[in-house]
Amino acid sequence: MAKGDLELVKLTKRYGSTVAVEAIDLRVPAGTYCCFLGPSGCGKSTTMRMIAGHESVTEGDIILGAQNVTDFAPARRGTAMMFQSYALFPHLTVLDNVAFSLKMKGASKTERYAKARAVMELVDLQRFETRMPAQLSGGQQQRVALARALVTDPGILLLDEPLSALDPFLRLRVRTELKRLQRELGISFLHVTHGQDEAMALADLVVIMRDGRIEQAGSPQDVFHRPATGFVARFMGGHNVLTLEGRPVSVRADRVRLGAGTEAARTLSGEVRGVEYGGATVTVVVAAGEGGEITAVIPEEQFFQSPAHLGESRDIHWSRGDEFALSAA
Ligand code: ADP
Repeated sequence: MAKGDLELVKLTKRYGSTVAVEAIDLRVPAGTYCCFLGPSGCGKSTTMRMIAGHESVTEGDIILGAQNVTDFAPARRGTAMMFQSYALFPHLTVLDNVAFSLKMKGASKTERYAKARAVMELVDLQRFETRMPAQLSGGQQQRVALARALVTDPGILLLDEPLSALDPFLRLRVRTELKRLQRELGISFLHVTHGQDEAMALADLVVIMRDGRIEQAGSPQDVFHRPATGFVARFMGGHNVLTLEGRPVSVRADRVRLGAGTEAARTLSGEVRGVEYGGATVTVVVAAGEGGEITAVIPEEQFFQSPAHLGESRDIHWSRGDEFALSAA
């Protein structure tokens, strides 16, 4: 394995009778932006903490580059973690916060300040050197936490819900910045989120977890276009999950059209239960018998050629080629 490659082998964590992470296998090549995605309690943070060494491993292995680091102390692994609560030292300046871990390693003052300043420049913090954490905004505090994690030259940076404390505007900005930083540094970022849009926007590799297991791992396009299970299709959004001829199937909502299709298409009909105007598109929900409620996302112009109204009965259709067989509902 190349330096910076990460491999999890049957990695397991149990807390008493609770299985938080159950025998997961995963390979993350060096230089990957990897997002762990899943609902609360599915084991994302526990997986990250085990990789960082902040949580012991019940069974299995963590291989980083050529080394099995499963039992290594956090500082010896070549990983760094940025926590959700930034955990800055309130009595130290920004510069000393960033340089702190180098001090612990015994670096001279000249050496650690030079390194800290280089990292601060990377995240645009130069101007705040002498400030105390309490004198910074949330976004700035987060950049300090980021700089503090990067100052150790990690092979892998772990980020646990790094954007959740930010307002929507700042979240988008920091998201772009994280991606840029990851590209510039060329190391892997492992980023925990429960937001599918965040994962889609950032990740080269999306790892979708459910109940301590990996439900699917793949590129954003893979998990969106070829969801393995109904859970993934529902979680990624934009899909209808239904049973057709006894098999679980997903159909993207933006592939469903109003009106009857040709003979080759699949046409269903039912009562219009919802119509939501969204600007470029209109979302229509139709209760289509055995198919259950089906959501159609229709381009605005097309919708207004023959608008659907609440309560009326309408046909909907899609091409059979847009039906995607799932391995489980
Ligand atoms: P996520 O990050 O996806 O929200 P976690 O990894 O935090 O999920 O938790 C996974 C499961 O492990 C949950 O059921 C949670 O209650 C349990 N868990 C996490 N940490 C502990 C702990 N220290 N003691 C007992 N159970 C825990």
